[in-house]
Amino acid sequence: MIAVLKSGTTPEQTAHLVDWLKHMDLDVHISEGQEITILGLIGDTSKVDIELLSSLEIVETVKRVSEPFKQANRKFNPNSSVITVGNAKIGNGHFAMIAGPCSVESEEQIIQVATAVKEAGADILRGGAFKPRTSPYAFQGMKDKGIQLLVEAKKATGLPIITEIMNIKTLDLFEDVDIIQVGARNMQNFDLLQELGKTHKPILLKRGLANTLQELLMSAEYIMSEGNENIILCERGIRTYETYTRNTLDLSAIPVLHELSHLPVVVDPSHATGKAALVPPMALAAAAAGADGIMVEVHNNPACALCDGPQSLTPDQFAKLNRKVQVIREAAQ
Ligand code: PEP
Ligand code: MN
Repeated sequence: MIAVLKSGTTPEQTAHLVDWLKHMDLDVHISEGQEITILGLIGDTSKVDIELLSSLEIVETVKRVSEPFKQANRKFNPNSSVITVGNAKIGNGHFAMIAGPCSVESEEQIIQVATAVKEAGADILRGGAFKPRTSPYAFQGMKDKGIQLLVEAKKATGLPIITEIMNIKTLDLFEDVDIIQVGARNMQNFDLLQELGKTHKPILLKRGLANTLQELLMSAEYIMSEGNENIILCERGIRTYETYTRNTLDLSAIPVLHELSHLPVVVDPSHATGKAALVPPMALAAAAAGADGIMVEVHNNPACALCDGPQSLTPDQFAKLNRKVQVIREAAQ
């Protein structure tokens, strides 16, 4: 349920109303816009007398929020959220290019790729240290050493870094990581989501391989319900009957998520398509459809990559793509 307060309501009047609502065992989420303040009520709102609440002098309207996601809901927070990491901002008109290898493989590799993508205009460096692989015999990532190397690449380039967490037991290793990624396979690992909700780190939450947009938003809600509102949603393709591409990129997720939620939406065309040649056209389409950022895999030598070489761009291809993305963004505004 939301209560929209009339403009001109004083902070004292708002605090008084919030107190009263909290006495009904409700959590109250306050969203202050330039003109209006919205109170989002979470909990058993059946106890609230809507007529009484609507009749209060400072209350403009009261509405029930039918969707099960509350804090992620745009009705709770009409202003688009912005996530800031270092010099990069994502959301509400701010756009970020996130680039880097699927996996950190060596100091030389990550420093080379980091330097190249920075020069090409990337805002954030990606790189997997803990890798969720289908086969237990495949390269599993450099783990803690991989994170250390990413931190070195951050020092060398100034780029904020993003890397995936698979197990909450490793959280301490992520202290110098700017954005923690929850991968597609862990989108519904609710224990992990709740623990990440107790941190204040920005979280990039990827859509699961076969999950609906509502399920993605419910997973964001798990993190937010523990107090962490710094979430970026990521569309990375879903499994369909099509096998030519690795997954099927659901571009309509971008406007749908923007309509339903205030959280920024980033698109990963690399895991969506699985083929380097398809990455630029899908990245451009995502930029045209209003994405708040693009995350692409870039490798200095894709043919020798330990993971996801076929979908990795070279630094030169990334530089070319980045120039085109900026043109599309301007044109689409
Ligand atoms: C990744 O970004 O490295 C990754 C494993 O992606 P996803 O979880 O989308 O498969
Ligand atoms: Mn990958």
